Amino acid sequence: MSNMRTIEKIIPPPAIHWVGNGFRVHNFFPSGTDLSMYRMSPFFLMDYNSKHYFEPSETPRGVGVHPHRGIETVTFAYHGKVAHHDSAGNAGIIGEGDVQWMTAGGGVLHKEYHEKEFNRAGGFFQMVQLWVNLPAKDKMTPAKYQGIENKDMGKYFMPNNLGVIDVCAGTYKDIKGPASTFTPIELYNCKLKKSAETNFSFNRNYNTAFLVIDGKIKINDISIADTNHFILFNNDGEDINIEALDDSLILVLSGEPIRETVVPYGPFVMNTREEIIQCYNDYNEGKFGYLEN
Ligand code: MN
Repeated sequence: MSNMRTIEKIIPPPAIHWVGNGFRVHNFFPSGTDLSMYRMSPFFLMDYNSKHYFEPSETPRGVGVHPHRGIETVTFAYHGKVAHHDSAGNAGIIGEGDVQWMTAGGGVLHKEYHEKEFNRAGGFFQMVQLWVNLPAKDKMTPAKYQGIENKDMGKYFMPNNLGVIDVCAGTYKDIKGPASTFTPIELYNCKLKKSAETNFSFNRNYNTAFLVIDGKIKINDISIADTNHFILFNNDGEDINIEALDDSLILVLSGEPIRETVVPYGPFVMNTREEIIQCYNDYNEGKFGYLEN
C-alpha cells in the first residue's frame, strides 16, 4: 500500500499587491486563491515577495507602525535585508537565509522596513511572510521575538554534497530546528543541487505545502513545479519525494491544524467577533504599547 501524499493543486503566483511601499507580494492564502482560509491551518496567511529588483532609494520602504494580536509573524529573507522594530523593545535585521519570528500574542506594535543600507544601495529583494495562528489558550501570551540566523538553524547535509536542508522549526531526519512554537510546526528551507533527490514524511493530518523559491522540482516522480509556484498537498498520506530538475530552493511548511473557529480582521486573528472589537478598543486605549514611526 502506497503511503504517498498526492498533490491537491499547484498554484501559480497570484497577481501582486503592495503591502506598504516595500513589499510587492503574491498572497497564496487566505485570499490569493480559492483556498478556504482554514485550509492551511495553523498557517493563516502567506505573502510572497518574489525576486524583484528595487532601485537605490533614500526614501524608506516598508510598512509603518501597526498592531497585531492573536498570531505570530514569521519572515524568511532570501534576497535583501529586512529590519524590524516592535513596541516590546525588540529589533533585528535579517538577511539571506535568516528568519525573524515575532509572537504578537496579546498585542504588539511593529514596523517592517528594507534595511537602510540595502535600501540606499538597491538590489534584489525576495522574502516570505507567514502568519502562524495561535490556539485560543495562547492568543494573549506575552509578545516575544526570535531572531533566527542561518547559522543557528538545524542543518541536514545531503550525501555527496548534493544539498542542505535548513531546519527552522520541527525536526527533519533527527535534525531539530531552533524555533519555539505553540503548536507542532515544521518549516524548512531545502537547497538542492540539480538532480538531488530527497523525501519527507509528515503526519497525514498536518496541512502541508511547498513554495518553490528558486529552480524547478519534480514531485512524486510525476508532477513538475516551477519557480514561484505553490504546491498544496492532500491529507491522504505521509510521504513526499522530490527531485531537483535544476539547482533549487524550496520552502517546506507543514503543521498540525488548529481546529478552532477563526475570526480575522485586518491585522488581528481571534476566535470571536467580540474579541476583535476588544482588539480595537485596546488599540485605541494604547494598550498595545508605543512605537515611534
Ligand atoms: Mn506586520
